[in-house]
Formats: sequence, structure tokens, C-alpha cells
Amino acid sequence: MSILKQLVFTPKCLICQRLGVEFCLSCIEKVRPFRASDLSEIEAGFCAGEYSGWLRDCIISYKNGEAKYAALLSQLLSMTLEKLASSPNLTLIPIPSSQQKIKERGFDSVANLCAKLPIVSKGVRLDTSNLYLRRAVADQVGLSAAQRQVNLAGAFGVRRVVSGTVVVIDDVITTGATINSAAKALKFAGAQRVLALALCGTPRIR
Ligand SMILES: [Zn+2]
Repeated sequence: MSILKQLVFTPKCLICQRLGVEFCLSCIEKVRPFRASDLSEIEAGFCAGEYSGWLRDCIISYKNGEAKYAALLSQLLSMTLEKLASSPNLTLIPIPSSQQKIKERGFDSVANLCAKLPIVSKGVRLDTSNLYLRRAVADQVGLSAAQRQVNLAGAFGVRRVVSGTVVVIDDVITTGATINSAAKALKFAGAQRVLALALCGTPRIR
């Protein structure tokens, strides 16, 4: 193969640009997971990292439709999920994107990441059709914590009875309004325990 061809086809770490891999574990391991506090409806919540630096950039690019970041973000979720995975009878429930966003991006962003989690292929249930948005909600960017709570109150519905332990999964936890609202609906539908997992969280919920 010519040098040019090799350069074109050799993968490059999406984070540090090192040649040879799509993302290197040493980059991923620099992200520090933390336990979220102050989530009123959640028994325990974990964020893979803080909403800053390359992680923030990757999430924004991914949500703008750049699917190449999916494997990296899914790997991060997977490493953080291992902290929760000892619970028996787990069901993973991603926060659904709005129909509008799915149309724009071509995929449901969090469900798409969850589908790639190795734990799902090992028998943990992934349920992407139960939790749904009952009405249109305003874009949360720029809203205060109180406004977010009003925006999301009663926004989620659950189609079928839920049992056991549920892990609600989202990309970013900013104030917790989304995850708390979803957890409330899931508990009402029968979930015994609701845990939360996110790619990242803001300092507010640290
Ligand atoms: Zn790297």
C-alpha cells in the first residue's frame, strides 16, 4: 500500500489524533467518572465525566449528526455502567429524543449509544419503546433550573408496566430535570429502583 493510502486508511484517535486506533484507552481513562448528587427521584446516578473539554465537543458533534463518535461515547457509557451493573434484573431505558430531533439527526441519540453497549448483548434488557415524550418540550438550553422543571413536569409517559431496577440513561445531566421527570413516570409504572447513567454532568450535580 502506498504511504498516501496508508495515511488515508489508518484510523486516528478522535481525541489525541494518535495514529492506529479510533480512540485510545489512555485518552478515555483520563475521564473521571463521578456520582451525581441532588437527583431527587434517583437512588444513585453516575456520570462518565464532566461536561467540558473533548467530551463536551464529542457530544455536541455527535448530537449534530456525526455518527463517527458513537463508538467512543458508547465505550464511555459502558465503562461507567459497570459501576451499576451488579444490580440484578436490570433494564436500561434511554431518554428518548423528540421526533423532530430524530428527523434532523437521522437517529435517536441516546438509544443509538445504548444499542452498542456490550452488556446488552450479554443479556441485560434494553427497552427503547416504553418511555416516551407525551408532548413537545422546549429546548432546555438557556432555561433556568426552575424553568426546566416546569418544561419537563409530566412530559414523560410509560407504555407498559415496569418491574425491577431501571437505569435511565441520558447524554448530559445539567440540572437533573429530565432524568427526575422520567424517573417519576417509571416509578409510577412500577419500577422498584431507578438508577441513572449519563455521559457527563455539570458541576451543579457533583
Ligand atoms: Zn487518544
